[in-house]
Amino acid sequence: MSQPSVNIGMVGHVDHGKTTLVSALSGVWTDTHSEEMKRGISIRLGYADTTFRKCPDCPEPQCYTVADKCEGCDKPSEELRTVSFVDAPGHETLMATMLSGAAIMDGAILVIAANETCPQPQTKEHLMALNIIGIQNIVIVQNKIDLVPKEKVIEHYHQIKEFVKGTVAENAPIVPISAQQNINVDALIMTIEEMIKSPTYKIDKPPHMLIARSFDINKPGTPIKKITGGVIGGTLTEGVLHPGDELEIRPGRKVESDGTTRWEPIKTKVSLIIAGKDDVEEATPGGLLAVGTTLDPTLTKSDTLTGQVAGIPGTLPPTRDDLKLELHLLERVVGVSDEEEIGPIKTSEPLMLNVGTATTVGVVTSARKDIAEVKLKRPVCAESGSTVAISRRVGSRWRLIGVGVIED
Ligand code: GDP
Ligand code: MG
Repeated sequence: MSQPSVNIGMVGHVDHGKTTLVSALSGVWTDTHSEEMKRGISIRLGYADTTFRKCPDCPEPQCYTVADKCEGCDKPSEELRTVSFVDAPGHETLMATMLSGAAIMDGAILVIAANETCPQPQTKEHLMALNIIGIQNIVIVQNKIDLVPKEKVIEHYHQIKEFVKGTVAENAPIVPISAQQNINVDALIMTIEEMIKSPTYKIDKPPHMLIARSFDINKPGTPIKKITGGVIGGTLTEGVLHPGDELEIRPGRKVESDGTTRWEPIKTKVSLIIAGKDDVEEATPGGLLAVGTTLDPTLTKSDTLTGQVAGIPGTLPPTRDDLKLELHLLERVVGVSDEEEIGPIKTSEPLMLNVGTATTVGVVTSARKDIAEVKLKRPVCAESGSTVAISRRVGSRWRLIGVGVIED
C-alpha cells in the first residue's frame, strides 16, 4: 500500500453509518475500544487507510473499487491513490473529539441516514463545524437507502438540498448508498476522487505533526527488554519525517514542583514510521502516520499526548498559556432543538477551545466585541493565525459558538 496522501473525515449524526462506511471502504472496523464495542458507538477518533483502485476496462462508475481485482471482469485493478479516513464520533457529547478530528481533515464525507428526517442535530452541528473551520471539499452520502422505498429516498434528497442551502456544502454532490449492503459504493469512490483531491503540501519546511492519538502498544506483562517505545499517531501538516530524526513534543509533560506547574517539552527520537500499513523511510504530509519513538510508553499510553505537536527540536510554534482571539461567532446555537441566539462572550466565562487536535478549557480574562483573551487550564502549542473552534456551555453541554483566530 502506498503512503496516504489525504485525510478524509467521516462526519454526521450518531448511528447514520460512518463507521460502517469506513469499514466498507477499508475493511477496517474502527470501533475497537472496549467501551465502543459495548455501547455500539464511536468514542475516540478512528482511523483507517484504503487504496482506491480502478479497472482499466470497465465503464464508470463500476470500474472504481478497493479490491485488487475488478468485481465486474475479474481483471487486476490499477492503483489510484491511498487515502486515510478519520472516523469522527457522532454523539452530541463527543463534539470535542469531532472538532479535534476536523483539525486534520482535508475534506469530509457527511453521512446522512435516509431513514430519518434531515437534519438530525449532529448532522447540523457537524456541517456547521466544517463550515466555520473552512473544510470545503465535501461529499454528502445518503446512507441506508436499502431501508426506505425510492420515493422516500427522493423526498429525503430534497430535505438535504434544503438543509445545505447557504452552507459550504451547498453544491456538494449527494451520493445515495447502502454502506452495509455495499450498494453504489463504486459511485461514491468516483465522487470522492473528483471532489476531495490530495492537497499539495509544503515539504521544504521542518516537519510538524499534529498528534491525534497516542498509544502504548505493549501487551501487559511484556518483559522490560522487549518493551517497544511509545507510539504517536497523527498527520504531518508540513515537512517530511524520517526514522532517526530527533523529535520535540510540545507542550510536553506536566511538571509540578514547589506548588507550581509547568510544561516541559518532551525530547525523543523517531524509531519507526508506519504509513499506509508499511514501514517507510520518509513520511510526507497528507494521510495518517504512526510514529514509533524511544519514549517510555507510559508517556504515550491511552491518548496522553493527543492534541500535542511534534517536530524537529527548536522549530515548533510557541506553547501558549493564554490566547488572544479575533472572534467570529455564529448567530445561533446549532445541534439542539431550541436554537437560541448566541450572546457576546463575557469576562470570566469558561470556554472550551479546540486548537489543532488539542481540546482545552479556558476562562475569559478580557472580552470586547471582536476580541477575547482566554487563560487556558492546559497550554497548547499553536502558531499565530491558527483557527480555534470555540464552544460555550449551554445547559449541560459544550456547544460550538464560533471560531477565533490566534493573534500574535
Ligand atoms: P456511526 O455511529 O455513524 O458510526 O454508525 P455505525 O456505522 O456504527 O452504524 C450504526 C448502525 O447502522 C449499525 O447497526 C449498522 O449496521 C447500521 N447501518 C450502517 N449502514 C447501513 C446501511 O447502509 N443499511 C442498513 N440497513 N444499516 C446500516
Ligand atoms: Mg461510528
